[in-house]
Amino acid sequence: MLFAGTLNTALVMISIGTGTCTDSSHEDPIPMSGIIITGMSGMSADSGAIAGMLSIVLGNCGHVGIIVTGSSSVTGGGLARALIGAQFTGAFTGIIVTGATTQFTAI
Ligand SMILES: [Zn+2]
Repeated sequence: MLFAGTLNTALVMISIGTGTCTDSSHEDPIPMSGIIITGMSGMSADSGAIAGMLSIVLGNCGHVGIIVTGSSSVTGGGLARALIGAQFTGAFTGIIVTGATTQFTAI
């Protein structure tokens, strides 16, 4: 159940990001998807570590982006939790599109 004012929590090795990779090794920017590979220490849900600001998203091409948006009210270790819709930037830039199915975080 999704409660008002919450979104699915983003999880390491579960949440998918989609966007574009602009690394110069590609002839042109290419559509790319990838997965979150780092999270916030000691925090987990749905058998996955919870991701947050500064978590790394690894594109299928091998390039990475860093999550730069998160919850405005829920933090861990001083960093905001990441939710579905979180933005990541870097060579690989995009948005997190999947998350926990039973764990939600206040927007
Ligand atoms: Zn790439």
